[in-house]
Amino acid sequence: MNREDKYTLVREKILDWYKENKRDYPWRKSRSLYQILITEILLQKTIALNVKNIYNDFFTKYKDFSTIYNEDITDLQSDIKGLGLSNKRAKILKDLSHMIITDYEGEIPHDPEILRKINGIADYVSNAFACFGLNHRTFFFDVNIKRFIQRVFKPQDVNVKIETIYSELDKLLPKTDFKYMYWAILDFGYKICSKNKPKCELCPISDNCFYLLNPS
Ligand code: SF4
Repeated sequence: MNREDKYTLVREKILDWYKENKRDYPWRKSRSLYQILITEILLQKTIALNVKNIYNDFFTKYKDFSTIYNEDITDLQSDIKGLGLSNKRAKILKDLSHMIITDYEGEIPHDPEILRKINGIADYVSNAFACFGLNHRTFFFDVNIKRFIQRVFKPQDVNVKIETIYSELDKLLPKTDFKYMYWAILDFGYKICSKNKPKCELCPISDNCFYLLNPS
């Protein structure tokens, strides 16, 4: 099998797996750009279940950027304390809301570069927002996506470059509906290709996995 065929096969099998095994999160059904962007900030450096636990209460209280902007920061910190890093996270939410209200009349700029002006918003959040909210074919990864890419396609090089992972994602992502591929990889990394003891015996792409076929 040539390399191109491998990306196609892995893409199709992981998307098939996702149809039967996806995790159910409310933010995946949201069409609100505000909720999609804020959720990516809430999801940083915490587990998805923590965000799920506060999701409805948070967005019932904080309906828009103005509500966050006008809320006392200590109350905001208290409302998100279950996620950890509440001081830092609250400051990001406040700074972002301030920028969007004062500089962009309450509308989220569609350029990820502008969002990255906020201290604490880096490539992952800005590019994930562009993908999930704006349907742009952007590249981003967390430890789970990186682990999956390296195990399936590349040797386990701890110093792998960001551009290398982006290049692999470019080959793996479909031309449309790419957000489902990201969700599929995230769920697959959680349920099957976990950091410790991956469930290779249940894996639909085990015949094509570099990690499994080249044990160190
Ligand atoms: S074979 Fe194992 S290591 Fe490879 S992708 Fe599947 S679960 Fe992950």
